[in-house]
Amino acid sequence: MDGKNNPSLKLLKDIKIVLVGTTHPGNIGASARAMKNMGIYNLALVKPKDFPNDQAIYRSKAAKDIVQNAKVYKSVKEAVEDCELVLGTSARDRTIPWPTLKPKEAAQEVSENLGIEKIAIVFGREDRGLTNEELGLCNLHINIPSDPEYSSLNLSQAVQIIAYEIRMALLEDENRADDWDVERATNQQTELLIEHMDELMKEVDFYDVNNPRKLLVRVRRFFKRSRIDVMETNIFRGLFSTIQKKLK
Ligand code: SAH
Repeated sequence: MDGKNNPSLKLLKDIKIVLVGTTHPGNIGASARAMKNMGIYNLALVKPKDFPNDQAIYRSKAAKDIVQNAKVYKSVKEAVEDCELVLGTSARDRTIPWPTLKPKEAAQEVSENLGIEKIAIVFGREDRGLTNEELGLCNLHINIPSDPEYSSLNLSQAVQIIAYEIRMALLEDENRADDWDVERATNQQTELLIEHMDELMKEVDFYDVNNPRKLLVRVRRFFKRSRIDVMETNIFRGLFSTIQKKLK
């Protein structure tokens, strides 16, 4: 089952794997190898601790090209701004529950949207994972249901599991389609919408800015979860602007 004749496998190339704050360059190389074994080529690095580094090249074996072509970013926000679907991986439960999928479910979601949307999968730091703020940028979260006694996998092995499941989903999925009438909003467009809503809420004193509690996280979760499209974004932003004009 090498999938040589399955055209949708070519789409895998463009999935963006985002590694955040990686400490050990060897993990970057090993992740690149895990990607290339599964046919994924687009690697983004957010503030890597030690890169470029020979260890990254060495551990990548024949996936040197992926390491050499990796793009480096200053923040997760910047790395995923052109993506319509962003999945964040996490070994732990967070305070605010987010829609969380197992690798196979996430792979299904990816395979249904591949080629139609730009997709990023974000992986965290070896010691601390992703911050709540970084996880808040994502539409969906992925958890590998490992043993709670020791739930955190080596970074490259987590990459391997997710990449493998995505490849399997594509090999199995014959009826990949999207019948949505409008393009989904990119991560940047959704972020601008959330900022705009926050601005308006402040203008009408909707919440105490010194004590926003979980309001903003809930608003953010709503928009991320809904996979809002471009037209819907424009409707909300148009409404917010109209209200802001009337207030003046
Ligand atoms: N102590 C950290 C673990 C970091 S492991 C934490 O609590 O999040 C480094 C990265 O590997 C994680 O940020 C995640 O991207 C991935 N990873 C490791 N174990 C995982 C798991 N069980 N489910 C999903 N991702 C995992």
